[in-house]
Amino acid sequence: MTEEKIIIVGHKNPDLDSIASAIAYAKLKELLGENHWEARRAGALDKETIFVLERFGIKPPEVIASISDKKVALVDHCTQCQMVDGVNNAEVLEVVDHHNIGDLETDKPIRFHVEPVGSTCTIIASYYLSHDVEIPEKIAGVLLAGIISDTDLFKSPTTTEMDLKFKNKLEKISGVNSQELGIEMFKVKSELDKKDTKGLILEDFKEYELKTGDKLGVGQVKTMTSEEFLKERRKEIIKKMKEVKKEEKYDLLIFIITDLLKEGSELFAVGKKELLEHALSVELENNSVWVKDLMSRKKQIIPQLMAIKD
Ligand code: MG
Ligand code: MG
Ligand code: MG
Repeated sequence: MTEEKIIIVGHKNPDLDSIASAIAYAKLKELLGENHWEARRAGALDKETIFVLERFGIKPPEVIASISDKKVALVDHCTQCQMVDGVNNAEVLEVVDHHNIGDLETDKPIRFHVEPVGSTCTIIASYYLSHDVEIPEKIAGVLLAGIISDTDLFKSPTTTEMDLKFKNKLEKISGVNSQELGIEMFKVKSELDKKDTKGLILEDFKEYELKTGDKLGVGQVKTMTSEEFLKERRKEIIKKMKEVKKEEKYDLLIFIITDLLKEGSELFAVGKKELLEHALSVELENNSVWVKDLMSRKKQIIPQLMAIKD
C-alpha cells in the first residue's frame, strides 16, 4: 500500500516565499527518508517566482485546486481566507508561518510553528540545521531568494537576526551573492509597465476580515520606478480598484505601491478609506497618500487595521 501523501502548500496568490518554503520543506522530508510529503501550489506563479525557479533549475510544484479530504501542512499562512479551497474538510497536520495568527481551528493538536522572522524560508532553513541535514545547493539558492523577496533584500523592518544568519549560511552553500540576486529579482518584479492594472492589483493580494466586520482586500507591488508608473496609471488604478471592490464586495480595498529605492509606499484606498486614515494617522488625497519608510503590509498596515475595534 502506498502511503497517503501529505500536501505542503502555501497561500492563494502564491508568492516566492510560499512556493520556495513548500519546495524546500518537501525536499527536507525526502532527505529524512519520508517520501510521502509533496509540495503543491495554490495558484499561478508570479514572475519573480518563475524567474527564481528557472534560475536554480527547479521544477515548479503542481497546482492543487482543493485540499478537501487531504492531509496538509500549511506554509507561509494561517488565515482561513488565504487557504486553498476545501480546507474545512482537510486534516491540517502542521503550520509553519511568520504571520499573525489567524482563525484556524483544529479538532486535534497539531504542530504549529509561527515565528516573527522575515520569511517562512528562514524557518525551513533552520529545520535543515536542527535535523543536521545538509542543504542541497539549489535548495539553498531558492531559500535565499525567498528570504530576499520577503525582506526586500533585508531592508524591510520585518528582517531579523535569524534572517541575516541564514543569509550568510545560504550564500556560502549556494555560492550566490544576495545583493546580485536581489537586484536581478527586483528587476523582474519591477517591470510594472508591461502588466495590466487590474492584474497588478490582484497579483500579490490578501484578504482579511477586520474586527469591525469589514471585508478588507490588500494588494501590493514593489518597484524601483514608482514615480513614472504613477504618472501614467494613477487614474486607472483608482478606476480598477473600484471595479474590484464592487465585484468582490470589499468594504475597503487597499493597493500598495512600494518603491524599493525611495524606501516608502504610495497607498491607494477605495471604500472605507477612513479606516486606513485612522489606522495609520494619514490623510488621503484623491484616494492616495505617500508614506515614507512604509515597506511591509504585514507589519506596518495589517496590525494597525486589525487594532480598530469599532
Ligand atoms: Mg507569502
Ligand atoms: Mg512569507
Ligand atoms: Mg510575501
